[in-house]
Amino acid sequence: MQKQYVYLFSEGDASMRNTLGGKGANLSEMTRLGLPVPQGIVVSTDACVRYYHEDQVIAQDVVDEIDAKLAALEKVTGKTFGSKKNPLLVSVRSGARISMPGMMDTILNLGLNEDVLEGLYEEMGITAYDSYRRLIQMFGEVAMGVDKEHFNRDMETVLVKYNFESDHDLSVEALKDVIVKYKDTYLREVGHEFPSDPKEQLLLAVESVFKSWNTDRAKYYRKMNGFSDDWGTAVNIQEMVFGNTGQTSATGVAFSRNPANGVDELYGEFLYNAQGEDVVAGTHTPLPLIELRDTMPDVYEEFRKMSKDLEAHYHDMQDMEFTIEKGKLFILQTRSGKRTAQAAVKIAVDMVNEGVMTKKEAVNAVDVNVIDGLLHPQFDTKVIETEVPIGKGLPASPGAAFGVVAYDAKKAVEYFDKGKKVILVRLETSPEDIEGMHVSNGILTAKGGMTSHAAVVARGMGKACVVGCGDVSFNAEGIATISGETYPEGTEISIDGGTGLVYKGGLQTQDVSISEDFNTILNWSDEMTDMKVYTNADSPADALKALEFGATGIGLIRTEHMFFESDRIRAVREMIISQTVTQRQIALRKILPMQKQDFVDIFSVMKELPVTIRYLDPPLHEFMPTTTQDIEDLALVMNMSTTDLREVIRSLHEYNPMMGHRGCRLAITYPEIALMQTQAVIEAAIQVTKTENVVLQPEIMIPLVGDVAEFNYLATRIRKLADELIEASGIPVNYRVGTMIELPRACLLADEIALEADFLSFGTNDLTQMTYGFSRDDAGVFLKDYYDKGIYGSDPFASLDTRGVSQLIEIAVEKARKVKPDIKIGVCGEHGGDPKSIAFFKKAGFNYVSCSPYRVPIARIALAQDK
Ligand code: ADP
Ligand code: MG
Ligand code: MG
Repeated sequence: MQKQYVYLFSEGDASMRNTLGGKGANLSEMTRLGLPVPQGIVVSTDACVRYYHEDQVIAQDVVDEIDAKLAALEKVTGKTFGSKKNPLLVSVRSGARISMPGMMDTILNLGLNEDVLEGLYEEMGITAYDSYRRLIQMFGEVAMGVDKEHFNRDMETVLVKYNFESDHDLSVEALKDVIVKYKDTYLREVGHEFPSDPKEQLLLAVESVFKSWNTDRAKYYRKMNGFSDDWGTAVNIQEMVFGNTGQTSATGVAFSRNPANGVDELYGEFLYNAQGEDVVAGTHTPLPLIELRDTMPDVYEEFRKMSKDLEAHYHDMQDMEFTIEKGKLFILQTRSGKRTAQAAVKIAVDMVNEGVMTKKEAVNAVDVNVIDGLLHPQFDTKVIETEVPIGKGLPASPGAAFGVVAYDAKKAVEYFDKGKKVILVRLETSPEDIEGMHVSNGILTAKGGMTSHAAVVARGMGKACVVGCGDVSFNAEGIATISGETYPEGTEISIDGGTGLVYKGGLQTQDVSISEDFNTILNWSDEMTDMKVYTNADSPADALKALEFGATGIGLIRTEHMFFESDRIRAVREMIISQTVTQRQIALRKILPMQKQDFVDIFSVMKELPVTIRYLDPPLHEFMPTTTQDIEDLALVMNMSTTDLREVIRSLHEYNPMMGHRGCRLAITYPEIALMQTQAVIEAAIQVTKTENVVLQPEIMIPLVGDVAEFNYLATRIRKLADELIEASGIPVNYRVGTMIELPRACLLADEIALEADFLSFGTNDLTQMTYGFSRDDAGVFLKDYYDKGIYGSDPFASLDTRGVSQLIEIAVEKARKVKPDIKIGVCGEHGGDPKSIAFFKKAGFNYVSCSPYRVPIARIALAQDK
């Protein structure tokens, strides 16, 4: 059978998302459920993919199929496309399998020309003209790329001429004027007349949707979210319904629950006598949906009930778009609603209690990227009490943020690259601002409502955001004045996305604690997996934070971080400069008590939980003094000349330190270092065991092993010393000696290593750079070109490479488990806190992931999700 490229809504359902796109699949599903959906057809994503394979031409057989389905749609609606009498008008709407907010634009009222207009005027009156002017503008902007400023200027001229407030007030006469002006503008900007043939309009519009799949904006969005460029978008062609026929008509957006706090109420915004994107465009100020309850009680009640039915059907909170035409409700879109982290956990817990979803569904519904917002700092309440806000807007996305103001996305990126925290301040945002929003700490806009672009995108990114802040205005140079005072770029402000308040200067922030609902979700998550979440912690403070967030062990202590502290760096330098073993032992004896105390402090926090301690790892020259003063000081202590000292420092220089004298190689040259660290670990464990009365589980981890002989050389010595210390004390310490797997060779020989090691922990940062052959610190420069040129889609250091590096890990796990089936396997690289990478580790059979304290809750949920 020939492949089908075009579908009626009545032929599809929710399961066909990949073919029909999210919007088309849900419109089909709602049709199936018998909801009042204007009928339509979907040109599938396959047609888009084909379009790109076939030199960006829509194939004739697809065009024929569109014609055939359009004829079927005419039958269903009883209207005729392009006819003067009872004309069918349609919207053309993009919709890929994933929702890409604001990426691809909709054209309304398609099928109108001067002729059809006449007929429609007889039927609908002024609405016909209003619809026609909208069509010319949208078609010009969306399909032909005309700058909207041109049309705005035309509108402005007519508004002034007739003395009208807004485009919603225009008379027929004024609308006729607008249409003439728009057509002139169209001709001037596009180079030919606005197409009067409805079929031509339709095909051009379909093609423009296909094209929009590949704009830079769309590509950037996909890259940011790791979505494939090969999916393509579907095109929905849908019968128009008219929210612009006066005060008994309206259009709006609504959530089945409050997306900011999760309260169970129909929540949204709407406008009377309006169409399409008027509500979200920020050009009119929308009304709260609750007003409809008074003005159109029946419609409101019907809508409320429908929203509950949709929730029950989809087992999730819904984000809906609707239009009311002369008192009749139509639903134009539904999808799972974006929500703040607070709302997400409340809704999930409520819905489980109401029986709308299962615990598993609740956990799966939590967007782990948004959860970040729950863990991010808030302003110190004491500071806030005394602070007078300079502005107030809508609390669009929670979290406290401060930074220097940037007035465009480019400047935001510039500041970010310089390591500054940024608050992006805009009149309103548009898709061009995505990158700037991404690098900013917070976003503040002068215009827009809770469903504006800025609000939706910021919630998606889990970033603090305040919108519609009327206290912000821009002067001629584009610099913001907030409540009368100007803020040149680079001055600091603070925003609170939870209250909508704006403050002058960079305000102190403080940590948050976990809400009861959030804890409930986390506990459900823990029930759904056997895997553990450990943390990477270098201090007792980190460890405490992680415990509070539910970590059940430490997967990585980087001991060298302890070496950098100002009171001990001198002793560390002495150790490195030492020319004899005796000298080195003297230096190490100075370090020992400090290192021991570090472990005492951390063990006291962690008690019987496993604590993994990585032995000294970085190249030694990282510790060397660089200033003349420091060099002179050290030379004095070491009783050598500065010239000699400089010579030693020079001798430590390596051309490629990442692949140089580091990791276990250091301890193989200087075993005394590993032995000092062992003494510190074991003596600390003994001491804490005595006071806490629990058996401790220190896990000694040897880094950068590439051969089992390296491991054995060190492990033998470490175990011997540890056993002696334990025996002498008579106190049991449940220590283990394991290794990191972070070299490709270690992966390939993991069976040999596993036979000797007590545990394996993948260091995926090093493993990634060693596998790709480029260093993490240098790759940023050229990886940018790789992304631009489409050679790589995403950063392998952020999300584990599931094509290459993953194979090495799979090989290693398989080999290790073959010789030692129950060997403990984990990961302690940055990837341990990345939900996508976590999904891989789970599949690969790891026992734990270890990540930074703030990622612990995210990891707990990610581990429980079926993704
Ligand atoms: P987006 O993906 O940007 O939300 P949509 O395709 O959902 O774009 O269209 C935006 C808005 O246009 C809808 O919310 C709705 O108000 C309006 N719209 C789309 N199709 C129709 C239609 N057939 N009749 C009336 N309004 C429509
Ligand atoms: Mg849009
Ligand atoms: Mg929409």
